[in-house]
Amino acid sequence: MHNFYGLLLFVIFGMLALFFGRYFRNVKNLKASLVQVSKSFQELDAQAKLILQTDLELNKTQEALDKRLNGLDALHKISRLISTTLIEDEIFHRLNQPFLIELGFEKFLILTFQNNGPFTVRVDFGFPRNEVAPLGKTFNSKPQILQPVKQGKIISSLSAPKDIKDIFTGILSVRQFIATPILSQKNVLGIILAGNQSESYTMTEGDEEVIAILADQIGHSLANARLFEQVFRSSQELERKVQDRTKELTSALEEVKRISKTKSDFISAVSHELRTPLTSIKGYASILITGKVGAVPDKVRERLEKINKHTDNLVGLINNLLDISRIESGRVEMKFLEHDIPSIIANVQDLLTPQLRDKNIQFTTAFDDALPNVFMDAGQIERVFINLINNAIKFTPISGTITAKVTHDSRKVTVGIADTGIGIKEEDIKKLFTEFYRVENEINQNVKGTGLGLALVKKIVEAHGGQIWVTSTVSVGTCFYFTLPTGPKTSTPEA
Ligand code: ADP
Repeated sequence: MHNFYGLLLFVIFGMLALFFGRYFRNVKNLKASLVQVSKSFQELDAQAKLILQTDLELNKTQEALDKRLNGLDALHKISRLISTTLIEDEIFHRLNQPFLIELGFEKFLILTFQNNGPFTVRVDFGFPRNEVAPLGKTFNSKPQILQPVKQGKIISSLSAPKDIKDIFTGILSVRQFIATPILSQKNVLGIILAGNQSESYTMTEGDEEVIAILADQIGHSLANARLFEQVFRSSQELERKVQDRTKELTSALEEVKRISKTKSDFISAVSHELRTPLTSIKGYASILITGKVGAVPDKVRERLEKINKHTDNLVGLINNLLDISRIESGRVEMKFLEHDIPSIIANVQDLLTPQLRDKNIQFTTAFDDALPNVFMDAGQIERVFINLINNAIKFTPISGTITAKVTHDSRKVTVGIADTGIGIKEEDIKKLFTEFYRVENEINQNVKGTGLGLALVKKIVEAHGGQIWVTSTVSVGTCFYFTLPTGPKTSTPEA
């Protein structure tokens, strides 16, 4: 029995020990779990706080991004507006818009200056009307405030030292500000001053960037407008100068025409006056030579013949002068009829055969096939050929060659009188067609001439609507070319 209780007690103690052993183990486990749970709670709490903080930061970033986007959108609008005008005033007028506020600032002042002159307020946005003029005066009376910006520096409340910050915030009555130069290439054309008074705005570096971009765009537009103004002004100036010169030239031309007419009238009058007594002199000389008035001793006859010859030369000269002035003033009658050039050349060749023979000069022709007839005053064109071929004979040495070439195209006939003569120097060619011009050469020293032949030839060719020119090589030969248009022309009535 004793043993039984002992065993029972042992069993009970054993069971209790087992129970409490488990119990304490469980309690320990529970404690450990509790520590774990509380740790997890703490971690969760920290994470929740982090999420809240991140959310706050995200919101802030979103706000900043929205602000930036608004700013960029406003910049885009402004850029489109100001880049579509080339008038400086209009650029600033277009800038003065309510959406300026979307750039992140409540107040804007845009100043320009030229050649270090005073500032002019071009845009004042967000400032009370009565404050604008005093603001302009303040900046002009203390130019040193904006001097660094004028030299290309950006000053803002983000980075400026306190004393500078105080000056700007004081003048502009704002809490935060930025002053940015308006640059075009390396020149500063003006200054943008932007600022915020309200507490809700917090200026960031992004805001600085937006204003810098705005300044860039204004700079480009201003430079374009000023360039346009400059080009426009100089084109107007040029137009005015052209008009002035045209006026001057017109009056000079009128004067030349007047003088030329006076000259023609004078030559014409003098020639007429000279021709009459010359005709008498020639008449008397001719009568005397015949011996009808009395016997003429040989020596007298000789002198009379000289008088006759010189009178002929003088009459020739006077006739040429008269013709030049009459063609010049359009007072010579031109009878334009259809003629073929080869037959005119054949006539002139016949006429000049004695001179050609005298110098044993060979005269050849080279004509295009199917040469068209030309409307011309045949008498006048014959004079052209006589003059040119006569000159060719005069300036070609014995046994030379003269060739008359005629070519044509759909609008004109081109004639060339080429010789194998002494040629003409480049510097003389320019003056050949001037009245009385004769080249100084050995032949001219011995052979008499007037220097009027080519001037007359030019007038006749031009009166036919043609052109005349010459090519020459000294000691090789010369070729005079002239053209005659093939189309019909209207004859000129005699004046
Ligand atoms: P002129 O023959 O009376 O001197 P022109 O007006 O006919 O006057 O000619 C002007 C000058 O042009 C001549 O003096 C001569 O020096 C030069 N000249 C004209 N034709 C020829 C030619 N075929 N070859 C060389 N010189 C020429």
